[in-house]
Amino acid sequence: MDFLPLGLKLAGETVLLAGGGDTALRKARLLARAGARLRLVAPAWRADLGELVEQGGGVCHPRRFEEGDLDGARLVVAATDDGTVNSHIAGLCAQRGVPVNVVDQPRLSSFVFPALIDRDPLFVAISSSGASPVLVRRLRAELEAWLPARWGRLALLIGQFRESLSRRLPARKAREAFWERQLDGPLVEQVLSGHQSDAEAALRAAIEAAEPAATEAPVGEVYLVGAGPGDPDLLTFRALYLLQKADVVLYDRLVAPEVVALARADAEKVYVGKARDLHALPQDNINDLLVHYARQGRRVCRLKGGDPFIFGRGGEELEKVVAAGIAFQVVPGITAASGCASYAGIPLTHRDHAQSVRFVTGHRKDGSVDLDWPNLIAPQETLVFYMGLVGLAEICEQLVAHGREPGTPVALVSRGTTDAQEVITGTLADLPAAIESREIHAPTLIIVGSVVSLHPRYRWFGEA
Ligand code: SAH
Repeated sequence: MDFLPLGLKLAGETVLLAGGGDTALRKARLLARAGARLRLVAPAWRADLGELVEQGGGVCHPRRFEEGDLDGARLVVAATDDGTVNSHIAGLCAQRGVPVNVVDQPRLSSFVFPALIDRDPLFVAISSSGASPVLVRRLRAELEAWLPARWGRLALLIGQFRESLSRRLPARKAREAFWERQLDGPLVEQVLSGHQSDAEAALRAAIEAAEPAATEAPVGEVYLVGAGPGDPDLLTFRALYLLQKADVVLYDRLVAPEVVALARADAEKVYVGKARDLHALPQDNINDLLVHYARQGRRVCRLKGGDPFIFGRGGEELEKVVAAGIAFQVVPGITAASGCASYAGIPLTHRDHAQSVRFVTGHRKDGSVDLDWPNLIAPQETLVFYMGLVGLAEICEQLVAHGREPGTPVALVSRGTTDAQEVITGTLADLPAAIESREIHAPTLIIVGSVVSLHPRYRWFGEA
């Protein structure tokens, strides 16, 4: 990160603005909104700029910049039309340790102005650290449309009641739970639809009715959430919503770090394993942990790679939760078969190739893959093997031995849907030998069937 976004309190502080043109005016407007007192230095300036400075209690100096102009300035904006003057100012500021912004020159600047979505007191700042103003403009337009204007009022209203709620509910957890309940209730709609005084009255009543004892022991819940196969964009809205509600997040190796990062900053994040042969936590302990955290009254989000109910032991994890009478929800996710197939350009079914698809585990028990082979040889069926890399040679061999065509196409998809996705194709007869000397990264999925022949045609445009 080249620039750390911060909110700076500028009310009554002196800010030096060098330059009197359009850009200077834009910066002056922003600074004036934050209550800064502007010291404008320029041989000439736009009339509206001069007025703005004077209205805010600032001063205008009709001359070129001098070093003394920096005395007492909290912040400096160099917006002259002379590049030499701008870099001179930047140099002096660096010596003095005063933050400086040189317009359109992020490399000379020690701070940048983000684009703002202003719902005072709420704001969203967007910046590309100078890389692409056009991109920032687009994003801002999208977010502007997404955040109703009255969000600011909502923030203001909550801010007004913070203190009285603190007196009523001294425990921070209880206050958080109170606000969560309010934001899930009618309050938001009341404010957004302009019924401000109703909202205020309801909030006042809710605070008076808040019971410290009752709210201090909230009942815990468990969310068993599918996090998708890898690409964080494949998360569902519901998954995101519950992830951001959770106080504790349990995740394993299959869950993308970017997804875990979407949890609340103050949520406890617990890694529970597990690599194939290296179990960070035995399954039993994970099941117990869910109950343990929920009994503390916390909202527990158990993130599972893909879909929790497809080779994810989701059922087992729920067993103890159900037995303990704890409330839970299960959120489906995009399973690896769907994700990998789409991103590799392999339709799992296709009128000319496959009328059915079967998800199979290639997990070995006692050293061999134990499957109902005679049932897996229909030529018009696609097979998807989860956890099958170690058993790949055996899978291919057994399918052929039981009658599937040796020339049947097979794809091995490694780290599917991520930036590192790799697709290796071959046939039942030659794929095992072809990958023997190659380094293959987990997780991998094996797709068997004539649909794999479509991969070169439908493959993802970005893939080599
Ligand atoms: N519940 C998960 C599957 C868990 S079993 C789901 O619905 O997807 C773990 C197996 O899933 C791995 O061994 C691998 O075969 C497969 N898998 C999961 N994510 C994958 C990915 N991004 N690319 C390839 N295979 C993946």
